[in-house]
Amino acid sequence: MSKKIVIVGAGVAGINAATKLVDNGYDGSLINIIDMGKDPHNRLPEEVMEGMLGAGGWSDGKLVVSTSQGGQLSKYCGETKALSLMDQVVENFRRFHPKPEEIFLSNPQEEPDFIKPKFTLRMSPVWHIGSNFLHEIAKNWYSYLVDKGVNFEWETKVTFIDFKYEYVELDNSLEPISYDELIFAVGKSGIDFAQHLAKDYELPDEPKSVQIGVRFEAPQKYFQKMIDVSYDFKLYQSDDKVSIRSFCTNNNAAYVAVEETYGDITYNGHAKKGEEFRNNLTNFGIIMEIKGIENPFEWSRNVVNQLQRDGKGLYYSPSRKPGTTSEGKDISAYQIQDLQQVRQVMGEYWDYVESFILDMKEIFEFSNDWGVYIPEVKYLSPEVKVDYKNLSLVQYPNIYFVGDALSARGITVSGAHGIYVAESLLRDKYHHEDIWYDGDIISF
Ligand SMILES: Cc1cc2nc3c(=O)[nH]c(=O)nc-3n(C[C@H](O)[C@H](O)[C@H](O)COP(=O)(O)OP(=O)(O)OC[C@H]3O[C@@H](n4cnc5c(N)ncnc54)[C@H](O)[C@@H]3O)c2cc1C
Repeated sequence: MSKKIVIVGAGVAGINAATKLVDNGYDGSLINIIDMGKDPHNRLPEEVMEGMLGAGGWSDGKLVVSTSQGGQLSKYCGETKALSLMDQVVENFRRFHPKPEEIFLSNPQEEPDFIKPKFTLRMSPVWHIGSNFLHEIAKNWYSYLVDKGVNFEWETKVTFIDFKYEYVELDNSLEPISYDELIFAVGKSGIDFAQHLAKDYELPDEPKSVQIGVRFEAPQKYFQKMIDVSYDFKLYQSDDKVSIRSFCTNNNAAYVAVEETYGDITYNGHAKKGEEFRNNLTNFGIIMEIKGIENPFEWSRNVVNQLQRDGKGLYYSPSRKPGTTSEGKDISAYQIQDLQQVRQVMGEYWDYVESFILDMKEIFEFSNDWGVYIPEVKYLSPEVKVDYKNLSLVQYPNIYFVGDALSARGITVSGAHGIYVAESLLRDKYHHEDIWYDGDIISF
């Protein structure tokens, strides 16, 4: 018995869920995907967070295969299953890639001696795709799903979900859409909406730690010896209160990206592939995970809000100016001459970032040739409580939270959430049709 499925959000999680379903014989015409962004042919590069493949579609396309990074997965399904789900996500990106042989794998095996006096290195395999290829992948993937009969509503925002009477309301139509099953995959751009639903329906949740810092940028030459060991190097320090790491490194043709959440500007980064885009820069997040803060979500929002000026985030450098986007536009950032405002707002936590930069300076010898975009944040809203076997809400078993909406923080984990839910829906369908489905093998 196939049910009508509505997927809110055509991001990494939603698209992987739909793909798993139609790959395994689910009737695509019963799947409605609604997204407030644009289809992959019309989405503009500055639309960083919305549209086909969501934030993942305009991201750097680093596919990290690790159960200790990028959010929770093994907690729900165990280590082995988590790795197998992430492999399926990587495989999907490979499958729709116009030149899969150009996907690059960085798989560090050993910590280099030169970092040891100051840092440890977190090691896991990372496949790198590059933003420009992601755009092509998004188009191929979209046409596959359309061919399978999946319905897409673009530039349509879901404004309300009635969990009881099972319908969604849209901003551009008076006609609600009903569902039997709903996959809630709104990512970071829908975090506000997720919060409203959690409040309205009194969904039980668990608080998450604060993840905040800056996006660091410098000429790549200083970091080349590190990049040769690990493309997406994760330098790591920690004490009882704070762990701090480099995160989401972009190289060669590396651009800082501007994100907007809750009306505030924060930063991220991505890299293109191809010599024509080369700018010989490296950028990465320096992110702290801070434990023990009361109301961590509100704390982060407040800090981010105070690190704005003239509707922009901040940029500090002893010698450099903010760069340009990959489209050649100036990066929206207000250049500050000293770090007083940042120190005031972040308090003692700024010392961790500063000391991390000083330690890097000793090892990589970049002197004053660096800059930081402030702030970078991973908003981890309280994680709603879900049934571990299929990520459905405890009180509403036909609503599934996935991806960044369930505190993921990366492409592979978000995509894996989507596939995990799809497997449960397939098990349900085939159970009713008296076919045994074990989650991995069914082909038609
Ligand atoms: C610049 C940048 C670079 C990144 N680089 C990497 C990287 O290299 N590797 C990595 O692992 N992760 C990276 N990330 C993070 C990664 O992209 C996300 O973790 C991932 O995309 C989350 O997937 P998701 O499906 O949960 O949400 P998303 O991919 O964000 O998709 C959510 C979708 O929901 C839609 N939506 C939201 N609210 C509504 C609504 N009310 N109605 C209708 N539609 C709605 C949005 O338009 C969006 O398309 C990057 C993020 C950014 C911004």
